[in-house]
Amino acid sequence: MTLTLPFDNSYARLPARFHVRQAPAPVKAPGMIAVNAGLARALGLDAEALAGPDGVAMVAGNLVPGGAEPLAQAYAGHQFGGWSPQLGDGRAILLGEIVSPLGRVDLQLKGSGPTPFSRRGDGRAWLGPVLREYLVSEAMAALGVPTTRALAAATTGESVIRDGRALPGAVLLRVAASHIRVGTFQFFAARQDTEALQLLTDHVIARHYPGAEGPLALLDAVVAAQARLIAEWMALGFIHGVMNTDNMAVSGETIDYGPCAFMDEYHPDTVFSSIDSQGRYAYANQPQIAVWNLAQLASCLLPLIAEDDSEAAAQAAVEVATASIHRFADLYQAAWIAKFGAKLGLTAPTEADRPLIEALLTRMAVERADFTRVFRGLGEGRARDEFTDPAAFDTWAPDWQARLAQDAPGAEARMAGVNPAIIPRNHRVEEAIVAATAGDFAPFHALNAALAAPFDAAADDPFRAAPWPEQRVQRTYCGT
Ligand code: AMP
Ligand code: MG
Repeated sequence: MTLTLPFDNSYARLPARFHVRQAPAPVKAPGMIAVNAGLARALGLDAEALAGPDGVAMVAGNLVPGGAEPLAQAYAGHQFGGWSPQLGDGRAILLGEIVSPLGRVDLQLKGSGPTPFSRRGDGRAWLGPVLREYLVSEAMAALGVPTTRALAAATTGESVIRDGRALPGAVLLRVAASHIRVGTFQFFAARQDTEALQLLTDHVIARHYPGAEGPLALLDAVVAAQARLIAEWMALGFIHGVMNTDNMAVSGETIDYGPCAFMDEYHPDTVFSSIDSQGRYAYANQPQIAVWNLAQLASCLLPLIAEDDSEAAAQAAVEVATASIHRFADLYQAAWIAKFGAKLGLTAPTEADRPLIEALLTRMAVERADFTRVFRGLGEGRARDEFTDPAAFDTWAPDWQARLAQDAPGAEARMAGVNPAIIPRNHRVEEAIVAATAGDFAPFHALNAALAAPFDAAADDPFRAAPWPEQRVQRTYCGT
């Protein structure tokens, strides 16, 4: 069965300074780990062909399919606040774009060999981060969060060395609305390449925000998309872990799953990433970090927003761009109330409901109650069991009941549709990676299947359980 993909590579048609042509490096012994047949079908692709010999060869990088124009994208970025004028795809290669029933999407290989942007890295990925991204990105999609997707993953039959250990190599075939980042704009802004910035702006508008007229409207649209996205993360207890500007997609999709994690015990200061020693990307900091990143995007767009080269025009551009960034706060707060109000079963939550929501979160933080289990428990009548001191819940619940009594009936059903029972818990992801590294992929497949239906698990489903103290994962790693 031959694999035919309807490539139409608009990014490859941008000028040469946007990318470097780079084929994936072939590997010794490709082996398919998983094919996301549902996603393949939704994209109008032949899932069987993708699972066949051509498919595995393509995912592993041994076969460049007809119509692909493989390249590494150039970008820059602020990493933990520190500026890097050149990052780029060091372990990823964009095969090209297809125009699918889901719209135009990128097909990208991650872990497919060195590129001119690899610096000291090997361009490879080991199995752990590939499985983590597969599981978590697909879980996010099932939870309704904008995200890149995992279409397939393959082992390479080669080892990669990480921290002195030889580990199995793997490649992820990732699908994204695009891989254009805040850092892509920064790459050209740092080079004062206004012509490239204009081309990039036009490209992003055409691709993601066709209604936006000009750079300021684009900024407004990205600000709004990020406000919605971060509210989604917060409502799930999701911590991205590396919100560097090169890891923020202008499309508004969650991208670059590294040391990301869903909280078990709730506390706003929670950090998992081993490299985030200052807690810059802690759970509660995510909205303000998004604003910081968006301000970087705004400053890149200033030369395009300004009407002419005059000092007055530059000043006016700063003012309107600043106003655009300031709108994040209101958009985010409204999205946050909508999300958390729905988690309490409310049909039309308003700012007046904030104290009720915050009172619950405060009690959860004091008690270190399990974020997912408390919210799921609200609709199942067992949230109080999640508190070591049930009084912490009992003294809050009457206010909530009184508020629900003013609302439409059916709160239980509404809550069951927004509060997941199953999330990719760190200890489960870790367990799947450890087993797969030893050759057993069954736990990975079982977890992946459970994550596909996060809202309708049986009460005793083992994937709902919080970790035992000894299972608790304290640290997550970039693990490139
Ligand atoms: P990230 O982990 O996505 O924040 O990556 C930051 C930068 O490091 C990007 O430019 C990556 O392409 C690069 N990078 C990460 N891992 C590797 C690797 N194994 N080989 C080469 N480049 C890498
Ligand atoms: Mg990255």
